Amino acid sequence: MVRTVLGDVEPSTLGAIDYHEHLFHRSPILPGEDLDDPAASEAEFAAFLRSGFDGIVDATPIGLGRRPGALATIAARTRGAIVAATGRHRDAHYAGGGRLDALDLAAVFERELTVGIAASDDEYGVTDAPAPALIDGRPVRAGLIKTGIDYWRISTTERAALEAAAAAHLVTGAPVMVHTERASAVPELLGLLEASGVAATRVAIAHADRNPDAGLHAEIAAAGAYLGYDGAARYRDHPESVLLDCLAAVVEAGHGDRVLLGGDVARRSSFAAYGGMPGLAYLGDRHLRRVRARLGDALTTTILVDNPAAYLAWSRA
Ligand SMILES: [Zn+2]
Repeated sequence: MVRTVLGDVEPSTLGAIDYHEHLFHRSPILPGEDLDDPAASEAEFAAFLRSGFDGIVDATPIGLGRRPGALATIAARTRGAIVAATGRHRDAHYAGGGRLDALDLAAVFERELTVGIAASDDEYGVTDAPAPALIDGRPVRAGLIKTGIDYWRISTTERAALEAAAAAHLVTGAPVMVHTERASAVPELLGLLEASGVAATRVAIAHADRNPDAGLHAEIAAAGAYLGYDGAARYRDHPESVLLDCLAAVVEAGHGDRVLLGGDVARRSSFAAYGGMPGLAYLGDRHLRRVRARLGDALTTTILVDNPAAYLAWSRA
């Protein structure tokens, strides 16, 4: 099963899934870019669904402005699937410090996956087990564990979060997503997770395409991990044509079953409903046309439908 904010669903019923967005987000390294308005985030998500998708992973981990109750309400009202995250991001997002690292993170992650996501992350400063967010009297639960590492660096606290993610994965089978900086240190990361019992096939490497190196991507895919392609709407560093070339080369090398597509739009200034550009719907309205033209319908369906279904289904491989 895949655990969405409204409950568990059969993976085959998910449809086309964007593996990486944020309907709510707040971070000290992104001042002025908060996503914190439920009505605007719902409008953005509704436009995104109309662009040809059936759902998303909301990849915002603990302490970065999560709104689990609002996610569940948005999912219910729009009929779009939303998988929410537990987990801890890379250190840079917790510049103000906080009590999270003093907690038993493995227990916190497991609790959010199986019991419910804290209604307010702020309460992690007061108690290890805040009351969960509810919808229709039922708790909203996480379906994925999100962690993060820095550019060629895995700090002590990031390593501890990865080990906690591994422990929670071993109990639940929930998939693991790791934020990387330009896909650096991926072999090291996969080695660390594997030593803690997480098979590479249960791991998604977020932002792999910020380093559009088809050779590196083929190596990561051959190791079993999923490659997150999520830079199309953020092409300051690489034009979409470069991402499409890299994607096509990886698929031609036989790794079409290891690719996940996302937008990671993630900023107030990029959400149309908050007055920005290009909006979540960029992926469906603009980028997807080019992916389809390049790869054909069958491979595009593999990437949009089959791969997220396999990745998001809880299993310990
Ligand atoms: Zn993200």
